[in-house]
Amino acid sequence: MGEFDLIRTFFTRPVRRAALGVGDDCALLAPTPGMQLAVSSDMLVEGRHFFADVDPLRLGHKALAVNLSDLAACGARPLAFTLALSLPRADSAWVGAFAEGLLALADAHECELIGGDTTQGPLNICITVFGEVPAGQALLRSGARAGDDIYVSGTLGDARLALEALLGHLTLPPATLAAARLRLEMPTPRVALGQALRGIASSALDVSDGLLGDLGHILAQSRVGACIDTRLTGPLLAADLADNEELVRKCTLAGGDDYELCFTAAPELRAQVAAAALASDTPVTRIGSVQPQAGLRLLDSQGQELLERYASFDHFSV
Ligand code: ADP
Ligand code: MG
Repeated sequence: MGEFDLIRTFFTRPVRRAALGVGDDCALLAPTPGMQLAVSSDMLVEGRHFFADVDPLRLGHKALAVNLSDLAACGARPLAFTLALSLPRADSAWVGAFAEGLLALADAHECELIGGDTTQGPLNICITVFGEVPAGQALLRSGARAGDDIYVSGTLGDARLALEALLGHLTLPPATLAAARLRLEMPTPRVALGQALRGIASSALDVSDGLLGDLGHILAQSRVGACIDTRLTGPLLAADLADNEELVRKCTLAGGDDYELCFTAAPELRAQVAAAALASDTPVTRIGSVQPQAGLRLLDSQGQELLERYASFDHFSV
């Protein structure tokens, strides 16, 4: 199958919202008056972000999910995306499954594929998403204020547990591994929650590299510090690992690949945060508070302050 057959067969569909889609030199988007365009790109590289033998349907899902997660973090509504694809060979079964996973998630979020580029080469997937947000209402990393509450959506650490198990660093019961692996390979972008938090959250981002590092970006850009309770954020699967508190804590704090939202909001807005969580059907947990002095303090399962080394670890091996 040649390049153009591939594009026509798997990546060309009638346009819905865009003014012009696949097949011309540019796609055309008609921005809604009063809205700002939110644009973000994320690249997935074989061997770096996924295993060569990953299920292509799941890979298609994840390639878009990580991009939608960035729109979610800004409170933007997804509109469209482009797909730049480098493929070792035109394997139509593989590309078909990839497109199925990709377009199912795209349809679920009414985010249409409007163009891209296709080339032969090492497996590499780069997606650029376009969303829109009312002018001036995007959620940013820089708005956290001392005294604000800190929240995360969903659970943290599951994806990292799966990765460690797949690398052979630990053994999980089969059902636990399957559930964790779904979180690693098919993350849920918190798109509805992000939009529901507009006007409520003072800052937000998505947790892609691990809570400590990512929350650190909010703290640095907002020029504040924080105290968080590490008991509250653990993985869905923590019960299976009750005898390994240290591993659970590392995965929770520095696991990566979570694609949950971390955000701050004034304490007066707790009811509004709860309403946003309910309206978007997304669990949200309050994990700490923003402090005026710089630095990140962590409390352990006894409510004691953890050693300083946790606050600064970035390289992480179990
Ligand atoms: P150009 O020669 O202008 O670079 P291409 O021949 O690369 O255009 O692509 C032809 C059309 O197919 C363009 O509209 C482009 O956006 C679209 N396209 C190419 N690859 C993809 C892809 N992987 N997914 C969606 N659209 C694609
Ligand atoms: Mg091209």
